[in-house]
Amino acid sequence: MPVSLKDTRSAELFARAVHRLPGGVNSPVRAMKAIGRDPVFVQRAQGAELIDVDGNRYVDYVCSWGPLIHGHAHPEILEAVAAAAAHGTSFGAPTEAEVLLAEEVARRVPSVDMLRMTSSGTEAAMSVVRLARAATGREKLLKFAGAYHGHLDGLLADAGSGLATAGLPASPGVPAAATANTIVVPWNDPHALRVACEQHEFAALLAEPYPANMGLVPPASGFLELLRELATENGALLVFDEVITGFRVAPGGAQERSGVIPDLTAMGKVIGGGLPAAAYGGSEALMNLVAPAGDVYQAGTLSGNPLAVAAGLATLRMLDDDAYRRLAATTEALADGMRAAAAAAGVPVQVVSVPGLFTTFFSAEPVTDYAGARACDTEAYGAWCRALLARGVFPPAAQFEAWFPSLAHTDEHIGATLEAAAAAFADIAG
Ligand SMILES: *Cc1c(COP(=O)(O)O)cnc(C)c1O
Repeated sequence: MPVSLKDTRSAELFARAVHRLPGGVNSPVRAMKAIGRDPVFVQRAQGAELIDVDGNRYVDYVCSWGPLIHGHAHPEILEAVAAAAAHGTSFGAPTEAEVLLAEEVARRVPSVDMLRMTSSGTEAAMSVVRLARAATGREKLLKFAGAYHGHLDGLLADAGSGLATAGLPASPGVPAAATANTIVVPWNDPHALRVACEQHEFAALLAEPYPANMGLVPPASGFLELLRELATENGALLVFDEVITGFRVAPGGAQERSGVIPDLTAMGKVIGGGLPAAAYGGSEALMNLVAPAGDVYQAGTLSGNPLAVAAGLATLRMLDDDAYRRLAATTEALADGMRAAAAAAGVPVQVVSVPGLFTTFFSAEPVTDYAGARACDTEAYGAWCRALLARGVFPPAAQFEAWFPSLAHTDEHIGATLEAAAAAFADIAG
């Protein structure tokens, strides 16, 4: 029996918001347009639970789109942020905590000996591209269709019509010149990748090692290894965008889990523990090209911000082996349960997961690339999400986003989620 959401107060706020904020929000996916409804305004959150301004309580699977691996308002993280804030919120001079965080990251991430902090993943991606171009003396970039590396001009590129063509601007306002040096190839397509590498000399091959911005579409067996091999052969740097996967799928991210080690890595989300922080890193030789050690210019007024660094450090310090085992078990229980619930309702889905991430694709066929993701029944996904919201589950409001379970999700949360999911599948099947 379909139920509906009480959202009077959210609707009131949204009506005011649209007059002052484009689309009523400060980042597009929050608008929930892709699932055919208006946004839910949040009042507060604790652990795995989110409470909206109408008093509805949800089990949250957005978790700020990735940063909150320990859930909302974790006491140790709040304490660390409060302690840092009491000493001053920003100095424009270095602090001890930045050294500690850099050491903590270098200890975990195989490719990272040195790093530079930024305030957002977009900035990290933009800066890592500049560094790769400076290091190689080349300009061309290879990226994969459906991969997201933030909203920088050069990487907001859609595939052209050929196998390995220059990217077309994916947004008005992106100059054609900005994407002319970006070659877009389909994910998991070894042939297209080889052809591109034969035709171009790249500064960087850029990849989300486990792409999670077209829904989660893991690499086919051997694909990351091929990427590594072709980068080296081409004279390009291999750049992994681990803004989502970093510190989530394993202590050292997808590179540790897969054993494929990039030259440079972009990090974000978990590294800031819910405050604005991101970073890019690599070997000493490459990172020492960055100013002021070298002459590749990149800077930031709030980079390495004390509050964000405190949150990041507290977040990483709580991520021990047991935490990763628990997060993997939670993810697996959810993914298995989703499969069973969909099957029971006769709804054809593909549930894809890696530890800490999963996507329920509304597709009868396995999804291996962006074309497959786009072929999903997004209407059905939207209807399912609306039903989930009405039943107390807060899903990522787009088929092309991953779900983010956290360490705060308990067996009770999992049980309630799967019960709601089963009912929501039944709603849309009937
Ligand atoms: C979120 C994301 C970014 C951009 O990070 P922001 O902090 O939103 O700028 C870059 N790359 C990937 C893979 C992401 O998921």
